[in-house]
Amino acid sequence: MCEFCHRHGEGKKWYLQAQNYSEDLLSDLTRRRFIQGFIGDPEYFRQALSQLDRLRRLPSYIRAVINPVLVKRQKRLHYGQVVPIEELERIFDFVNSVTRLPCLCRQTTVGREQRHCYALSMVPHERSRLLEVVRSVDSSYLTGPDTSGLEALSKDQALASLRLIERKGLCHTVWTFVTPFIGSICNCDRSDCIAMRATFNMDYPMMFPAEYVAEINPDLCNGCRQCMRVCQFGAMGYGVAHERVVIDPRRCYGCGICRASCSEDAIVLHERSSVPLAAHAW
Ligand code: SF4
Ligand code: SF4
Repeated sequence: MCEFCHRHGEGKKWYLQAQNYSEDLLSDLTRRRFIQGFIGDPEYFRQALSQLDRLRRLPSYIRAVINPVLVKRQKRLHYGQVVPIEELERIFDFVNSVTRLPCLCRQTTVGREQRHCYALSMVPHERSRLLEVVRSVDSSYLTGPDTSGLEALSKDQALASLRLIERKGLCHTVWTFVTPFIGSICNCDRSDCIAMRATFNMDYPMMFPAEYVAEINPDLCNGCRQCMRVCQFGAMGYGVAHERVVIDPRRCYGCGICRASCSEDAIVLHERSSVPLAAHAW
């Protein structure tokens, strides 16, 4: 189990604890201000990107000192975890408001709107305090992202849309807004997502891997390598002798995206804790 499961989930999966989505947590003024600044100020993301770039150019011995301090702060404010789609289904069982929003990372890195973020709340849309916060940003920060077209989705609509996104090779993540409050699901890739860039290119982790690890059934795998094209974590290799793909459990982030691409249903996810090589690979 990841560090947050121990700290915020009482030893169970922290993102499946309803209290971590509660309106009570969202009532906290500091948290609301953090969310308003996060959503409303495009400079927040531009600055984050340029700070990461400056960090990347520092000598590695300086980064080795600074990064742990920054990561500790990140875990306190805004940190994520990869989650496979079946866990999102379970989250949607107790979260009854899902609203699709423009992705702030893509707004900054690609320069155009892509609706890959899903705000979550435990009360119906019209009463959601999170939406109140988002809307308050829209009226007070004229330069912020366009949140006028917030799309309220049913659980089935949200899952259908997330399955389509999965087929495009994006991996699902949950995110805190002043930990442990979970305010959104995002869908990440290495080229456009600032958190993934930081995690994989700059030794600055901003997300935990999933509580799962994938495995391929060699009897079902036909060696087509379709799964390798979508794995963003470099966890797969092709064995020429056996003409099959294999997964390195120490590198696997358990996103399940490869599974969605396999026409042979050859890929399954196991609990990370049950795979000795991956159980402590956080
Ligand atoms: S997509 Fe499925 S069948 Fe093709 S190589 Fe991957 S696991 Fe094997
Ligand atoms: S091998 Fe692991 S990290 Fe790569 S796509 Fe599959 S589940 Fe995700």
